[in-house]
Amino acid sequence: MGKFIIAAIAMLAFYPGHLLADTTKPVSKNKNNDVKDIIRHVLESNEVFVKRSTSEYFKPFIHGQNPMATMITCADSRLHTHALDVHPDGDLFLVRNIGNQVPTAEGSVEYGVRHLHTPVLFIIGHSSCGAVEAAMSDHSKLEPAIKRELDTMKVAGTKTDDAAEVKKSVETNVHHQVSYALTKFADEIRKGSLTVIGGIYDFKNEYNQGSGRLVLINCTSSRQFGQTIV
Ligand SMILES: [Zn+2]
Repeated sequence: MGKFIIAAIAMLAFYPGHLLADTTKPVSKNKNNDVKDIIRHVLESNEVFVKRSTSEYFKPFIHGQNPMATMITCADSRLHTHALDVHPDGDLFLVRNIGNQVPTAEGSVEYGVRHLHTPVLFIIGHSSCGAVEAAMSDHSKLEPAIKRELDTMKVAGTKTDDAAEVKKSVETNVHHQVSYALTKFADEIRKGSLTVIGGIYDFKNEYNQGSGRLVLINCTSSRQFGQTIV
């Protein structure tokens, strides 16, 4: 691996900026992508970022962070922060895992809420979630660590070939995670220092609001205390 990294860095060193590969398109793995291509894509993407960012841009980050929200999303590669925040740097204390779960990342979520004092906790699921489908299926034979993380999800059925049932299960899991957060952070919510929002990133346009839309489905903690949002 070390050889590959050195080779990729060497390749990049001889890459004039205008010859950088198209970093606007995803590079999914396939038989034509070897490890060097993948490493090069990341280094080239970083090169584009470094070139367009001035030192002024990083100044606010040098002595700490002050994010506006803690956000937990599924780790799914089709869901990324650029869809939810144009400039996520410094804005989002982001936690990701399979099934966008609070219990399996409780310490990280708690750090965002109780130490960084973010006023909002977003819990974001997504279309066609593989973790939701796995939780709907028999997952008793999966690796213990994966099984343990699926066991903390709540779904609405077992028919993974039924798009409506999968969609309902994605929603059920988001509501379940929000409910868990409402109990855990009840004091913060009661004091009005935290709002918990549940949403679904809909890249399949299942809600007919446009592909890639973030659809909010649970604003319980806001309604509960008479706040008006969205
Ligand atoms: Zn997922």
